[in-house]
Amino acid sequence: MSEPRGDGLERRDVPLEMSPEEFRRVGHRLVDAIAEFLAGLRAGPVTRDEAPSALRALLPADGVPEAGADAAALLDEAWRLVSGHSLYNGHPRFFGYITSSAAPIGALADLAAAAVNPNVGGWQLSPMASEIERQTVRWIAGMLGFPAGDGLLASGGNMANFVGFLAARRAKGGSELRARGVGTGQPLACYVARETHTWIQKAADLFGLGTDAIRWIDVDRDLRIDVGALCRRIEADRRDGVRPFLVVGNAGTVSTGAVDPLSKLADVAREHDLWFHVDGAYGAFARVVPELASAFDGLERADSLAVDPHKWLYAPVEAGCALVRDPAALRDAFAYTPEYYRFTGEDEERVNFYERGMQNSRGFRALKVWLGLRQAGLAGYRRMIGDDVRLARELYRAVEAEPELEAVTCGLSIATFRWVPARAAHGDEAAERRLDELNERLLARIKAGGHAFLSNAVVGGRFVLRACVCNFRTTLEDVRAVPGIVLRTARELDLG
Ligand SMILES: *Cc1c(COP(=O)(O)O)cnc(C)c1O
Repeated sequence: MSEPRGDGLERRDVPLEMSPEEFRRVGHRLVDAIAEFLAGLRAGPVTRDEAPSALRALLPADGVPEAGADAAALLDEAWRLVSGHSLYNGHPRFFGYITSSAAPIGALADLAAAAVNPNVGGWQLSPMASEIERQTVRWIAGMLGFPAGDGLLASGGNMANFVGFLAARRAKGGSELRARGVGTGQPLACYVARETHTWIQKAADLFGLGTDAIRWIDVDRDLRIDVGALCRRIEADRRDGVRPFLVVGNAGTVSTGAVDPLSKLADVAREHDLWFHVDGAYGAFARVVPELASAFDGLERADSLAVDPHKWLYAPVEAGCALVRDPAALRDAFAYTPEYYRFTGEDEERVNFYERGMQNSRGFRALKVWLGLRQAGLAGYRRMIGDDVRLARELYRAVEAEPELEAVTCGLSIATFRWVPARAAHGDEAAERRLDELNERLLARIKAGGHAFLSNAVVGGRFVLRACVCNFRTTLEDVRAVPGIVLRTARELDLG
């Protein structure tokens, strides 16, 4: 370096900085574009059938550009790319998976959160953000009637379920587990209904138990766990020297919205000294709807509960939430306190979320959830969730009324059905397999068509179409349009 020391550092040339005037100008432009986008959602397709190569061709050349560029032009271009070539889960006819429409206040909350940029790993790094997250977690526990001793937000349902799984592993895995791992002592086993989401496989694998530790318990005709079969399996494992440690109950399965008999599972857990975890990622928030609440009896007896504010609280992704009953369970499982994180003035009242979960640096997810809860209120959520469920039932009824559609299940806000053409054979295995194939091809067509977006499930071994209403923009007209869209698309299929 030949220039005088410190030269040019009095007023740095910072290409990422924006003047207040520029920020205001560019930001207002973006907000205007977003408002227009939201207003125009209904008129456009749910998604466009574009190939990856077509999208890649729209992106700039490979490699980070050597020279920078103007923020306004870049944001214009980025907005055109993202708003023009996406799957719009905020579209009223998006019925796929369980990705909700996102509350607009959540988008503004994320902007505000990113602008202040608190690191919600430690209280000192995020005083108000930590307090808002703490309050959000308590509010969620309160609205679900769950006696949480502790909890935190996570990126989604998988991560929230992992938190419960790890708390269970720590609590039931023996005092040496943290130092010596899971390889010592009796092998551990966990018990889940066959309908359980695939997070359990990731958890058993990633957290050292191996997927053979999962006992997949059969379900009854309503796709709820067979408690008799569960008890027999636990007893057989005990006789074989295996240590049962965890039973998972579903508060709304991902495929069909089935709710396991949670009270009975709580009894089994108590009798066999198991950790009782409830996966309520999809369904648990339906407990706030009075007509639906009794289905969730027993949820309050769980040791841990995972829910997903980015599903039925309509927060933009990402927002999951893990709750535990025992106030010490999360710190027992996750806390290590090295010297460099010894925050001065620390006391019981200052929540350091890095000690309660897997992340170290953490974003301010709580703001969008907290603002949504306040904007809608409990009464608003009761109405929106209740309406979603009623719309799914209307969709099911509309399907039932069509001779060429076979209604299969309706649970919470998920309806499943399949296309059975009038002349199609029905009954024997070969005919059923042909119907599976037909419906699979039909689904691909429907998705590509952009008029409505459905997904699929497998019920009783059969491939079925699946519509999930987790969407405050969906109306009666939208669900009643589904059978027509399905049958019109079916007629276009080459049946040869
Ligand atoms: C969605 C879902 C998950 C996974 O949640 P993500 O937010 O996608 O990580 C787990 N369990 C159930 C029942 C779900 O519906």
